[in-house]
Amino acid sequence: MRCFHLYSSGEDPAEVLRSRHQWSTPWGLPEHGPCDKCGGSGTVSGRCLSCAQGPRALCPACGGRRRGPMRCPSCEGQGAITRIRRRGVSAFPTREGLLRYLHERGADLEGRVILELDAALSADTDLDADRGALLVLPKRVVAEHPLPPG
Ligand SMILES: [Zn+2]
Ligand SMILES: [Zn+2]
Repeated sequence: MRCFHLYSSGEDPAEVLRSRHQWSTPWGLPEHGPCDKCGGSGTVSGRCLSCAQGPRALCPACGGRRRGPMRCPSCEGQGAITRIRRRGVSAFPTREGLLRYLHERGADLEGRVILELDAALSADTDLDADRGALLVLPKRVVAEHPLPPG
């Protein structure tokens, strides 16, 4: 499947294809402890950022569900974070979804690019799956895109 991943412009994109780099850890979340995403309830209100312009029936992130309550992806419904290292790299099925996500996070985009990847879906769940993020195992770098200004 085709997907989009935020990457450092100074690094060789081929590195993302190496299995030992295909792991993800969260930005700014505590290693373990109470889950701040769901407040310990184990359930969050999902909103797929790749489908913000309207449902996409074949959206691999949400399956066309688009929004609604879902099991918290950070704590996997446990209410406390116990497992943060996940198999795969974070990606979005659309470039627009990734850009909305970065905007929502207020991410620093200095020195970053977007890699368009051909990838397989990981069996693991992204910590931000409630925003439509996927974990993928990249197979090929299709293209490198600059981030839009602003
Ligand atoms: Zn979706
Ligand atoms: Zn949680």
